[in-house]
Amino acid sequence: MPGGNAVAEQIRRDQQYRLLRVMLALMAAYGAVIGLVNLLLFDALAIAAFDLATMGIALATWVYLRRSGRLKPASWVAIATLAALLLAYTALARGAAYSLVWVTVLPPLAFFLLGSRAGSWVAGAFGLMVAGYIAAFHPGFPVRPFDLGAFLNIVEVLLAHWLIHRFSERCHEAAYEQLGAYARVDGLTGLLNREQLDAELRQALSLASRSGQPVAVALLDLDHFKAINDRHGHPVGDQVLVTVARVLGDVVRSTDRVGRWGGEEFLLLLPETGEAGARAVAEKVRAAIEAAAYPAGVVVTTSIGVAWDPGGLPPQSLVARADKALYEAKAAGRNRVVAWTPSVAE
Ligand code: GH3
Ligand code: MG
Ligand code: MG
Repeated sequence: MPGGNAVAEQIRRDQQYRLLRVMLALMAAYGAVIGLVNLLLFDALAIAAFDLATMGIALATWVYLRRSGRLKPASWVAIATLAALLLAYTALARGAAYSLVWVTVLPPLAFFLLGSRAGSWVAGAFGLMVAGYIAAFHPGFPVRPFDLGAFLNIVEVLLAHWLIHRFSERCHEAAYEQLGAYARVDGLTGLLNREQLDAELRQALSLASRSGQPVAVALLDLDHFKAINDRHGHPVGDQVLVTVARVLGDVVRSTDRVGRWGGEEFLLLLPETGEAGARAVAEKVRAAIEAAAYPAGVVVTTSIGVAWDPGGLPPQSLVARADKALYEAKAAGRNRVVAWTPSVAE
């Protein structure tokens, strides 16, 4: 579903943008506070310089992101700065075990901001750098020295990170697709909803004006539906709507589109169909609705207005014509099909 993926892509970009801004703001604030503490309280000039440099890079990147809106370069700078910061911190803490806990912050950020592939490489390279650093400078550190086993461990952890990230991504994509589908159909009947019908109508008409093929619509309104609700109750009314929807789906061709236009009104969109074809489909639909099985004592009939596009008609005019014909069908006694003609308009 390309439409849904485009939406998902846009949402992901928005989320990345938000995360990156918060991340840069936190890095700038953290760098400033820790830098000042080191400078004023501990007289640790070198460390303070490093902290303030982090603050400067984060601030500059933040401003760049706000001005240009370019996610990719800003993400790379942020991740690289964070990686340098974490490595420096591991060195400062002399490989103390707790400093390694900080190291776990980088992979999820790298995956989320850079994507699965680049995230894997960055997280892997980072893990190697940390392990290499400890092996080189802290041979007494209570982990085994860096060797093939350590390398394999990094690869395995990386694979786990990648799988977790892909799982999270798939969950999101599935949710977006599900939501996209809900947005297109009517909850009660499962038919297309009004918004989707509108969109498909516009598309069918513009396609037809290029191909020269006719398009027809049939607008249905159930007869005396208020009386069915009043006599049998709203739930029975709903059940009738569901049955009518199923009948409509059964009767029309697979290329025709069926939707719920309003409360007890339905619209059929009939591509490559002219006047005679539209009349025939509408009559078949009318008879099928009358003949269908409903809860005991319920009689259902429908009036139908039909209109077709002679070429270049705007969607609202086509439906307005069908609506006028429908009004005629009601006025002429209901349970019948009336096709639009210029005389109907008067
Ligand atoms: P007419 O033959 O002139 O169409 O008479 P009608 O009683 O059908 O009149 P109208 O089309 O104006 O009636 C619409 C009725 O449909 C009013 C409303 O109570 C009912 N209705 C609309 N949506 C629903 C729904 O989702 N469920 C149920 N049960 N009834 C609905
Ligand atoms: Mg109605
Ligand atoms: Mg009605």
